[in-house]
Amino acid sequence: MPEQLFPELLALRDRATTFAKDILCARENVSHAEVVAESKRVGLFPMSQPRSFGGSEAGPLAMTVVREALAACNAPHTHSVFGPGPGVLAKCDEPLRSRYLAPVLAGEKRGGFGFTEPDDAPAPTTAVIDGDMLIVNGQKSYVTGGGNADFINTLCQIPGKGPALVVIDTSAEGVTLTRRFSSIDGSHHAAFAFNNVRVPVSHIIGKAGEGMPRALQQIGDTRLLIAANVTGWMMYATDFARDHIQQPDRSGEPRAAKEGVRMRYADMRIRTFAARSMLYRTARLAEAGENIVNEAICCKVFATEAVTEVVDTAIQLVGGNALVTGHPLEALYREIRSLRLAEGASDVLRLNLVRGDLELGKGRL
Ligand SMILES: Cc1cc2nc3c(=O)[nH]c(=O)nc-3n(C[C@H](O)[C@H](O)[C@H](O)COP(=O)(O)OP(=O)(O)OC[C@H]3O[C@@H](n4cnc5c(N)ncnc54)[C@H](O)[C@@H]3O)c2cc1C
Repeated sequence: MPEQLFPELLALRDRATTFAKDILCARENVSHAEVVAESKRVGLFPMSQPRSFGGSEAGPLAMTVVREALAACNAPHTHSVFGPGPGVLAKCDEPLRSRYLAPVLAGEKRGGFGFTEPDDAPAPTTAVIDGDMLIVNGQKSYVTGGGNADFINTLCQIPGKGPALVVIDTSAEGVTLTRRFSSIDGSHHAAFAFNNVRVPVSHIIGKAGEGMPRALQQIGDTRLLIAANVTGWMMYATDFARDHIQQPDRSGEPRAAKEGVRMRYADMRIRTFAARSMLYRTARLAEAGENIVNEAICCKVFATEAVTEVVDTAIQLVGGNALVTGHPLEALYREIRSLRLAEGASDVLRLNLVRGDLELGKGRL
């Protein structure tokens, strides 16, 4: 539970909170380079990077504590706080390790993740083996950061062998960036078409046939982190509402004098308490090396749906001012919407959860 953390984790949480308040929130035009330098100084930057590359490779509980603490301050610029992580390239072999993993971790190259395909794609993205080359054809419709990516870790079907994750340079002949777009949360994405792109067979991450479990592992690993961010935002919105309802309204009485206001605020606290309880139980299981696939699904689905209610209620209690462009709750409202789709749509995750229980006997209550 968040109350029973070891002293080192409590100190880490304090450090993250101070960093969020003094650097991220206080300095209006802080640059990416300044955030990185300060984050390195306080030891947050290397937490997401492997020890073999000079990182401190924090465990899931420490990552949960820091992400929740940053979000509880509703800190901006959090994308600059952690060093680039290995993603699906973790534990890859040569030549991918030197050509892609090392430059990514050093901040010299950027990769995207190509999984989602357009609804009207004539066929899934396919890579046909031709000697020591793959010939890739297909499309990916929603690659976050794709516009600036040097390469895309692309899920391809290899006939006779199954799905594989293949590293494809965006500058390779036959790769076309077909569309740039941004989503409601302000993040940027791109769509790509692959037309007879020739890629070395050595660009398969792991083995042919391992693509789906590797891709799902990567997506699964992010779910607990999403739940940690979201839980922090729920704490922020609840605190915001708490401050607001203690102020007098036009009648001169504190808003919290009204029972209806108290009921709405109670619901915010109940949801936030439940999300935090799930989050820390799951983070502790992960820290102990337990399989948390199903528990992380529960945390992600619950937190991303509960935060919708919590932020919406905070806006309702604050009133029209909360919807003025630039208000922190207005910005938060836009930020949270995509999370019920990204890294697994809620209903698809519900089906996975039930399959885990009924067909595979996995998952805890
Ligand atoms: C901000 C953001 C960033 C993203 N970044 C990436 C990225 O970097 N790389 C990438 O590959 N993708 C990315 N995506 C895409 C994301 O993975 C997909 O949007 C998500 O998986 C849902 O797929 P879809 O959009 O094709 O919708 P669909 O799969 O068509 O699903 C739409 C809805 O249909 C219903 N549905 C679908 N299947 C089922 C089912 N089996 N049973 C019951 N109901 C079902 C659900 O209600 C679901 O929400 C991103 C999306 C967002 C919003």
